[in-house]
Amino acid sequence: LNYSKILGQEEAVRTLKGAIASGKAGHAYLFYGPPGVGKTTVGRAFAQALNCEAGGPEACGVCLACRRAEHDNLRDIEVIEPGSKSGRMIEIEQVRTMIARASTRPAEGRRKVFLIPQAQRLSPPAMQTLLKTLEEPPEFVTLILETRELTDLLPTLISRCQTVRFRRLPNEAVARILKSQGASPAKASVAAAFSRGCLTDALALATDAAVWKRRERILLALSEIAALPRPQLLRAAEDLLRIASIKPEKSSESDDSDPASEEESADRAPDEPSRTGGASSAGAARAGMAEALIVISSWLGDLMALHAGSPHASLRNPDHLDALERSLPLYAPARLFAALDFTLKCGYYLERNANPRLLMENLAFQIHPGG
Ligand SMILES: [Zn+2]
Repeated sequence: LNYSKILGQEEAVRTLKGAIASGKAGHAYLFYGPPGVGKTTVGRAFAQALNCEAGGPEACGVCLACRRAEHDNLRDIEVIEPGSKSGRMIEIEQVRTMIARASTRPAEGRRKVFLIPQAQRLSPPAMQTLLKTLEEPPEFVTLILETRELTDLLPTLISRCQTVRFRRLPNEAVARILKSQGASPAKASVAAAFSRGCLTDALALATDAAVWKRRERILLALSEIAALPRPQLLRAAEDLLRIASIKPEKSSESDDSDPASEEESADRAPDEPSRTGGASSAGAARAGMAEALIVISSWLGDLMALHAGSPHASLRNPDHLDALERSLPLYAPARLFAALDFTLKCGYYLERNANPRLLMENLAFQIHPGG
């Protein structure tokens, strides 16, 4: 793994290289920034460099530790993901196991490195336990936590870590990468604008036709909702649910919506009971809802930007300018703000296991101009 393959995070990389070069690698790092901009890749490159036998600021790529690290089988680098028990949270048992492993010296490499890519999913007891470890970590241990926002974590946890900020990638850089992956210039430009520097989202939109189609259908539904009378909003919610592949809970009715993509299925918690059977598990419903929420917040955000007179170049849905301009006069500014606020809160509730169907039914009313 080489830092040079990571675009747009030169500042973070400089910080980490500097730490190794000066022999002052820390015990705990907190990488924060939007998803899909390279936090995990940088974390792995850093973990490898910390273990490289050559001892330079950048991994040599040829020593035994490097080769093992690149194949994910260097025992001294461990990744802690949300556990199988709930599939959603990193539980206290996992942190206890990690602490036990952290107490013995590195077996193969030079340093024990624990990566926690979704630190915002540490359960409260797990976070407390981790906190105690961070008071006096063994000298041969480095912890790398990742999260989107600093506000996701306890201030006491943040204060014990060196924070490293990861930035959104510039739209032009994202578009260039998408084109190199075969996306048409027009699609690359829209996907880059829509995903605001989040490369993984942009790649999914530009290269997965089903993701692109769902975005189109949701944006169309949103432009229609704005003009609907209130009594029809529940049906509009039903449409949105269908587009997002969130199936009815009791019947086993099948519909014509897009099948859940593999990524969505991968997000499914293995031990959660499937309510409708087949691929439409609770996990797929949550993934569908999360994707829909991104589109809905982009739409409302664009309306707010237009209202504020921001340049069209700053819109996330520049290819839907006409529909946005038709909807704009229907909303009072305060309503737009409340609608966007509610949409963002839905993301928070969804992370905490709220029912996607109920969220969408509420959302349809909240994003209506007469909300
Ligand atoms: Zn090496």
